[in-house]
Amino acid sequence: MRVLAEGIRNHKESRNIMGKEKSRVVYWLGDNLYLNITNRCSNNCYFCFRNLKDGIGKFNLKLTREPAVPEIFDDLRDVINRRLWREIVFCGFGEPLMRLDTVLEVTRWLKKYHAATTVRVDTNGQAQLFYRDRDVVDELKKAGVNSVSVSLNAPDQQTYEQVCRPKFENAYDAVLDFVGAARSEFVTEVTAVTIPEVDLAKMEQMAFDLGVKFRRRDYVPCFW
Ligand code: SF4
Repeated sequence: MRVLAEGIRNHKESRNIMGKEKSRVVYWLGDNLYLNITNRCSNNCYFCFRNLKDGIGKFNLKLTREPAVPEIFDDLRDVINRRLWREIVFCGFGEPLMRLDTVLEVTRWLKKYHAATTVRVDTNGQAQLFYRDRDVVDELKKAGVNSVSVSLNAPDQQTYEQVCRPKFENAYDAVLDFVGAARSEFVTEVTAVTIPEVDLAKMEQMAFDLGVKFRRRDYVPCFW
């Protein structure tokens, strides 16, 4: 969930018969195309943008139900050839890897029919806790994911639990393990929101020590 910018309105689907914005699975901001495939998340971050807004720009990201894979393909077909998108990003009002199989299937489809696309997953990094008997990083790599952006948001477990309020007890360690596994397979970054509880300089050093990029994200104008 990233940049706030004015998107192009898809007139065909932008409003329902009551004149209200319909919820969107595929939306776009700047040069990136985004996929909002779930509103579920294993965190409950106090700064989560979905607690404040219904969407981003003109796009309503509050889903009334999770889209099936063929519906995602249909929505993608409507817009994917409009321009050369810089990245296709799994990022919306929820944790995309709660639907790992959907991420894998859509990524494989993108790589098959739009081979030049770059696929990124924006994640809270906890997927290995939902899929304990699978190798999430390996499956993402084999499907064709190019990069991951992990919302770390804290330099230690105590701060993480305070600001991200995870459902899993050992979530912070799992996120660090995910970053450690991802960094050798993808372009990997960790991110942190600029909130008072988080020492960003410490996080930058932490990212350096982990061998990944670091990116800070403004609290108010950006989300995720
Ligand atoms: S991880 Fe992202 S989607 Fe989940 S609660 Fe936190 S900010 Fe919201």
